[in-house]
Amino acid sequence: MRMKLAATAAIALTALPLAASAEGNEVNIYSYRQAYLLEPLLNAFEQETGIEANVVFAKKGLAERLQREGRNSPADVVMTVDISRLNELVERDLVQGVDSDVLEKNVPESLRHPDGKWFGLTTRARLIYTSKERVEEGEITTYEQLADDKWDNRICTRSGKHPYNIALISSMIAHHGEAETETWLRGVKDNLARKPQGGDRDQIKAIAEGVCDVSIGNSYYYGNMLQDENQRPAAEAVRLVFPNADGRGTHINISGIALTKSAPNRENAIKLMEFLSSPEAQGIYAEANTEYPANPNVEPTGLVAEWGEIHPDSLSLQEIAEKRNAAVKLVDRVDFDGE
Ligand code: FE
Repeated sequence: MRMKLAATAAIALTALPLAASAEGNEVNIYSYRQAYLLEPLLNAFEQETGIEANVVFAKKGLAERLQREGRNSPADVVMTVDISRLNELVERDLVQGVDSDVLEKNVPESLRHPDGKWFGLTTRARLIYTSKERVEEGEITTYEQLADDKWDNRICTRSGKHPYNIALISSMIAHHGEAETETWLRGVKDNLARKPQGGDRDQIKAIAEGVCDVSIGNSYYYGNMLQDENQRPAAEAVRLVFPNADGRGTHINISGIALTKSAPNRENAIKLMEFLSSPEAQGIYAEANTEYPANPNVEPTGLVAEWGEIHPDSLSLQEIAEKRNAAVKLVDRVDFDGE
């Protein structure tokens, strides 16, 4: 595997050794996912197929870059997290549909674009974390209850505008409609112990420090904190709640992959996509970041397995993408991040 770190798009353009080559036995990946997650997978892929996988890593700007490069782009696939980023590629018309029996068998319908323009490879649940000390087990079991008066001044969260929260709010709109979701979101805002700030890990720390008792966050942050000596004590102060497990299921989001419109190595790219959805790759990929395999035939391993069976909301990620604009407007209207 050849890797390049692209800190900014400008640097990346000059540092990129990738040349669009239809003949080379290779596949070129633009990735928002970190190197340590992809390395074992791509090594296995190379061994199995003899196709060299080249990766450009970046923190942002890959969609803009693809757009700028147009049909001359060397990129075959984009790997990223969050439905909003995958959907952005579709909206900018940067990706093409893939018609593959293997992908359709390995990736459930709710986790892929209806025309194959993106495929989920791992899932992550958006959970409620509660203080082990100050909140009884079973005291809160649903997202809806976050708006209850009993949590007044007791909830922490990152910005309402963050894609993770936008996707959760989108799912609420899909299930309850806009008016009811607005009432709910105002209720959650009224319960905040502080202005939305930081990332999901910071909310776990805030619970450990007694700033708040309840927060919202993705499953893998908790898992990754438990595995980090310095952050473990904070994680150990909180309990995981899988919201709505007894009802419609817990809201999940995905990391995924999409085939670029201009893909110079289209066949190899589809082989890579199929490989990444296979049981062999799914186990490695999900465990590397304490996520869930998208392939339902692959059991979660490690910490995630210890959390027990998950009952995910079956709402399609495509539907969540379609509610995104409404969710963004709602967050603005209730001034969720305001004082
Ligand atoms: Fe994250």
